[in-house]
Amino acid sequence: MSITNVPELFGSMVFNDTVMKERLPKDVYKKLKKTMREGTAIDADVAAVVATAMKDWAISKGATHYTHWFQPMTGITAEKHDSFITPTDDGHVMMEFSGKELIKGEPDASSFPSGGLRATFEARGYTAWDPTSYAFVKDGSLYIPTAFCSYTGQILDKKTPLLRSMDAISTQACRILKLFGKDVKRVTTTVGPEQEYFLIDREDYAKRKDLIFTGRTLFGAMPPKGQEMDDHYFGALRPRVAAFMQELDEELWKLGILSKTKHNEVAPSQHELAPIFERGSLAIDDNLLTMEKMKLIASHHGLVCLQHEKPFDYVNGSGKHNNWSICADDKNLLEPGDKPEDNLQFLVFLACLVAAVDDHADLLRMSVASAGNDHRLGANEAPPAIISVFLGDALTPIVEALVKKEQPEAHDRESIDLGVPQLPEVLRDNTDRNRTSPFAFTGNKFEFRMCGSQQNLSDPNVVLNTAVAEQCERFVDYVADRADEDFTTVAMRFVRHTFRDHQRILFDGNGYSEEWEAEAARRGLPNLKTTPDALPAMVKPENIKFFEKYGVLSESEVHARYVAKAEQYAKLLNIEANTMVYMTRHMYLPALFDYSGDIATSVATKAELGIDAKAEKKMVSVLTDGINAISDAVDDLEAKNAQAKGLEDPQAADDCYRDVVIPAMTALRTAVDDMEKVCGHDYWPVPSYNKMLFYV
Ligand code: ADP
Ligand code: MG
Repeated sequence: MSITNVPELFGSMVFNDTVMKERLPKDVYKKLKKTMREGTAIDADVAAVVATAMKDWAISKGATHYTHWFQPMTGITAEKHDSFITPTDDGHVMMEFSGKELIKGEPDASSFPSGGLRATFEARGYTAWDPTSYAFVKDGSLYIPTAFCSYTGQILDKKTPLLRSMDAISTQACRILKLFGKDVKRVTTTVGPEQEYFLIDREDYAKRKDLIFTGRTLFGAMPPKGQEMDDHYFGALRPRVAAFMQELDEELWKLGILSKTKHNEVAPSQHELAPIFERGSLAIDDNLLTMEKMKLIASHHGLVCLQHEKPFDYVNGSGKHNNWSICADDKNLLEPGDKPEDNLQFLVFLACLVAAVDDHADLLRMSVASAGNDHRLGANEAPPAIISVFLGDALTPIVEALVKKEQPEAHDRESIDLGVPQLPEVLRDNTDRNRTSPFAFTGNKFEFRMCGSQQNLSDPNVVLNTAVAEQCERFVDYVADRADEDFTTVAMRFVRHTFRDHQRILFDGNGYSEEWEAEAARRGLPNLKTTPDALPAMVKPENIKFFEKYGVLSESEVHARYVAKAEQYAKLLNIEANTMVYMTRHMYLPALFDYSGDIATSVATKAELGIDAKAEKKMVSVLTDGINAISDAVDDLEAKNAQAKGLEDPQAADDCYRDVVIPAMTALRTAVDDMEKVCGHDYWPVPSYNKMLFYV
């Protein structure tokens, strides 16, 4: 591919604005754009015209099928394909696609997690077109982004609450802007997800049942070298990896995905892709497509793409930084302006954000909780499980001054200038990056760094959007209650008081330190270390009310989500424990029997010759002790896994996995890894860390 092709290639498989303008009658185009912009309902006539235009365009791109594309609660995408063919009377077929088929689909979706929302007699859910995301053609099918709900109208997907939360924040943020004299119809959230991943050789992968079944290595002795030399980060790309990345970019660009930055990451065999940010729901659609394409394209290069949060112990795991901002009429609201009024507006939004994170720290933590991410958070490579906000060297003094009320209360323009000195100039240079902070202000956006690499980013964005919406509304109410006072004075007071009341969430120090853990406890910040600790926040009465108030999730939907997440954790841990037992009994023990048996035979043979094989005897004894330890540990794990599996209540099961099963898994891993260190290389049944992390 020559570089000059990129602009032509970009978005060539997307039913985007250019195509719509070209192919839709003017009035239909206008109505569709209004829906996309303002979230208004779409009527049947418009849908029918759009459907035909989409179909004709898709056929011109080689499509024969269409699919409603949705995001069930598993977080990954789902699709079921129907062809466009419709029989004619004369035994031929026509290619047809109706407005009805565009708007609504009925996948037999009984096997998706519903958290108990859907009884089997009403198992069929339906999918509904989301006109705010572009349709696209991939692998011979027209993909129509959709939402997914049950027949009773309860939502069963990740996308609907996201769209609802984007509506909530839009409504409330528009009200703030109105107070600042700006008539804005829609405020959108923007998201830029940085995706980390590992690439390993396909042949190695195929030999590791743990990677195949669970996405991570459940065993593996520490390699002689880890990431301590920092020689992989931003290092030159190996040719095979470079070829993978090039093909990936090409495929993503065709799908209109703004793939921008690629580089080697800190851990060996680890890499990152960062796209240019876009509207929140689109960014998440595109991230899911990116993850899918990464897996597929890796296979073209003899590689496997690992997206698990912790594929390997001893080196960094993978995260997905959720860069987040809010935008009105193409203007970033977290960018302070050149005028004092704009700086005040910026400070109002900043204060809302800080308060939102503090008030809902438990929900934010919950939103990134998963068995995989538990290995990262708190492991001194990712932010800790404690949520705090980093404002940086530029903003912190301003906020501190505001809190201390050193500045005179602003009564007129001049004194706002004093109160909020040259924000843009100060911030432009805000290069300070605290990598240990879970929620960092990075110049003109916030970066939420706790998200896991394989997670669908909807959950954290739902919480964030809704929490900020709540604070925006609080500001509007605050101003309304003081209608007889000067707006600027009131707004400044809101900012000052908000920072004062939420100071405990602000932390610029080292998030990895033990002192911070103690300090955070003193400040009363939640420290929810594991998924079973974090999930119950979802169903606290005040949190259910919070989701209900902004029309994001109903009480039964909240409960269903909690149950689905809790069950997912238990199921995953059960699979991990089963896989460990399988590998131990079928691979590691037989290998160690062989190795120790061969040495024992040699000891006996040498004894017949009158030679005392001292070293070999010692080795047989080490191996025998190790084998016994493994044998006991695997029996123990099997019993404990059965105990957890027997628990009906999802929270009780999760707690048992965390407290009983995981320690047994750790004990078995230690016993096996100890033997890997002494077992003959040719006997060891799986590729070692040495091999999978360091390719030549
Ligand atoms: P890092 O230093 O964290 O690696 P990168 O430059 O790799 O930073 O990534 C920053 C990410 O933030 C990119 O995906 C970028 O598009 C995104 N980003 C930049 N501005 C915004 C914004 N206003 N809203 C959301 N995301 C943004
Ligand atoms: Mg980042």
